[in-house]
Amino acid sequence: AGTLYLVPTPIGNLADITVRALHILSQVDGIACEDKRHSAMLLNAYGISKPLYALHEHNEISASAYLLEKLRNGERWAYISDAGTPGISDPGAILCEEIKKGGYQVCPLPGPSAITAAVSGAGDFLKHGNGGFQFLGFLPAKANQRDELLKVAATSNISSFFYEAPHRIESTLSSIVAHLDGDRKVLIAKELSKIFEEIKVIAVRDLPDWMKTIKSWQGEYVLGIEGAARRDSPTSFDEDTLQWISAIDGRIG
Ligand code: SAM
Repeated sequence: AGTLYLVPTPIGNLADITVRALHILSQVDGIACEDKRHSAMLLNAYGISKPLYALHEHNEISASAYLLEKLRNGERWAYISDAGTPGISDPGAILCEEIKKGGYQVCPLPGPSAITAAVSGAGDFLKHGNGGFQFLGFLPAKANQRDELLKVAATSNISSFFYEAPHRIESTLSSIVAHLDGDRKVLIAKELSKIFEEIKVIAVRDLPDWMKTIKSWQGEYVLGIEGAARRDSPTSFDEDTLQWISAIDGRIG
């Protein structure tokens, strides 16, 4: 009793929802969601009918208090965002914090997220930094702040991934062309799990010509920038770390 489940929902393909997610959604006392009309379509498709309560970025504090009260009454609730995993560039963090502070359990379910799908399909990008990567959320809307973050990505040994809005993607790619070395690779993952899915990996120097071939930038995007580590190295550990590793393991040196 008194549990909140954070439940991931599909990012495009309606079938991308886990058996456990459907089970939890059909068992809870109610479902909080970003947009009731939007989530009702998903729940209807799976024959799930529950009380819905709106929790979005503009009311997350007061809605969290409402749900905490529900849990105090021994109820179990789920939270779903519009698409993907709650809390990942979506509401859910404040809710999670408030429920835990109130002494109740928060149970996050694994499931679909645009970032994990994009990283999983990024191939060579993961050879930098021992398979690690950094996810930097949405790129800022202001060009100067965005360019600062792109500089962070340009100098990072591990690969960096971002969410970007369709009306800004073209200008962001132009900024990447202006700031990054020509041989650095960029990943553009568009419309993952949808009909017009495309995962493009391209060197910065080839971006301008490719961009000219794009007729419409409509769609949802994850952007990746390859890590700056030496390409002939299997990992991007710095010298200190490498010395430390060889000190504890004589076979590596
Ligand atoms: N919580 C979600 C998740 O776990 O992926 C992310 C929500 S965020 C408000 C929406 C952004 O995620 C979009 O602007 C886009 O950058 C990215 N995104 C969502 N669905 C996508 C898809 N099917 N393909 C590519 N990117 C997607």
